Amino acid sequence: MTAVLSVRDAVVEYPGGVKALAGVSLDIRDGELLAIVGPSGSGKSTLLHVMGTLDRPTSGSVVIAGHDVTTLPDRQLSALRGRWLGFVFQQFHLSDGLTATENVATGLLHAGVPRKRRGPLAVAALRRVGLAHRADHQPHQLSGGERQRVAIARALVHEPALVLADEPTGALDTGNGRAVLELLTRLNEEGTTIAIITHDRDIAARLPRQVEIQDGLVVADRSAADNVAADRVAT
Ligand code: ADP
Repeated sequence: MTAVLSVRDAVVEYPGGVKALAGVSLDIRDGELLAIVGPSGSGKSTLLHVMGTLDRPTSGSVVIAGHDVTTLPDRQLSALRGRWLGFVFQQFHLSDGLTATENVATGLLHAGVPRKRRGPLAVAALRRVGLAHRADHQPHQLSGGERQRVAIARALVHEPALVLADEPTGALDTGNGRAVLELLTRLNEEGTTIAIITHDRDIAARLPRQVEIQDGLVVADRSAADNVAADRVAT
C-alpha cells in the first residue's frame, strides 16, 4: 500500500544537545488509523511537528504524498501543508467571532477552492461530524465536544492525505472524549487516514495500530492484525 507519509531517521537536536528525536523512522499508509503513544517528554510533540512540516528535523527526511519536504522552501512547504495535511489540536484552536461554518471554511483557504464553493463544502463537512444544526453557532455557543467536532470538520474539509490529531480528547470529559474517538474511527472507516498523538494507553489500545515512542525512539509498533496473528499462534 502507498505510504502517505514516510519519516526516515529523523533526528531533532535542541541547543545544549537534547535529542528530542534520536532517529525515528515511520511509515503511515493510506487508510490507516494509528496512535503515536508515549509518556510526557518522550518526543511525541516533536514528532508531530516534524510530520506536520511545522519543524524541520536536524537530520533525516520526511516525504509526504511523494514530496520530500525536508528541502522545500517555506512557501512551498506551507502550500503543501495546506493541501495534504489536516490538524486537530487539544484546545481546538477555533476562531471566536466566526461561525462554525466560517471556521471550517478556513480549512479550504490553501486548497485552491473558489470562495463560492467554500460555504457549501464547510456545511457538508459539518454534516459529516453531525453538526449541521450548529452551522451558525460561534465557538462560545458550543460545548467542548462540539467545538472539537468543528475542528475535526475543518481538518478534513479539504480531503487531506493525513489528519494529525494532537491529544484530541485531552481537554474533554470522558463521555465527550469517547464520542470524539468514535467519530475519528468512523471517519477513518469512511476513508480518512488519521494519526492520533496521545499519552493515554487506553486510547491507543482502541486503535488498530500503536506506535510507541520513548526517549525519542520508536520502541514498539503493533497493529491489530499482528495481535490476531499472535493470538492464533498462542491458541
Ligand atoms: P512529548 O510531546 O512526548 O511530551 P516533546 O516532544 O515535547 O515530548 O519533548 C521531547 C524532549 O525534548 C523533552 O525532553 C523536552 O524537554 C525536549 N524539548 C522539547 N522542546 C524543546 C526545546 N524547544 N528546547 C529544548 N528541549 C526541548
